[in-house]
Amino acid sequence: MSKPASRDSYAGYRSRLVEAVRAAGIRDMAVLHAVSQVPRHLFVPEALRSQAYEDTSLPIGSAQTISAPSTHARSIEALQLTGREKVLEVGTGSGYQTALLALTAGTVFSVERVAALADQARRNLAAAGVGNVSILVGDGTLGWRAYAPFDAMVVAAASPDVPAPLLEQLKPGGRMLIPIGPPDAQVLTLVTVDETGTQARTPLSGARFVPLRGTHGFE
Ligand code: SAH
Repeated sequence: MSKPASRDSYAGYRSRLVEAVRAAGIRDMAVLHAVSQVPRHLFVPEALRSQAYEDTSLPIGSAQTISAPSTHARSIEALQLTGREKVLEVGTGSGYQTALLALTAGTVFSVERVAALADQARRNLAAAGVGNVSILVGDGTLGWRAYAPFDAMVVAAASPDVPAPLLEQLKPGGRMLIPIGPPDAQVLTLVTVDETGTQARTPLSGARFVPLRGTHGFE
């Protein structure tokens, strides 16, 4: 981050947001620290800036939404990142979750199908001073083969099931967070693959994400 968070005029709002995220049950210190650092007002449309530090989802254009910060925090906490991982994110959206991941992992590779959102996310991340991120415009249900395998993955859109290419690109011992279910209600699910290739699924919470569109998504 280029500018210490304490010196910008939104720092007080961010401290209150950290308290809201903590109240939602998030305990991972690295995740809470990331929430305290990332200037969320740069990731929401200008007209909605006054709501940027409320723990709510907001529209970001192209019929998509940025999730509530506590939802992002819960997903990232479940990945148990140490700060060194190579992470794949499917559904860059505004780039806010990408920024949280960039502060809690090593490198982030993020795929977004809507070019206008990917462009906006690149601008948002640059404005926030976040550097260790690469964004690809394409169908994230296919993963990002050139940089596979990944230590961890986050799918930021509702998926009918786990896309097979993503499982193939997850390292043995890797963790994936994905909302599984129909477009109107999903279960945020932690998918792990052990060293023998055995898959386990742990349901974490109910969720409502926008649909994942693509070869291994809806349509
Ligand atoms: N977490 C994001 C919000 C994600 S909304 C944020 O912090 O702003 C879900 C995103 O997934 C949308 O931007 C949508 O365009 C994208 N998406 C849907 N299907 C996709 C696919 N197959 N590949 C890549 N992105 C996809």
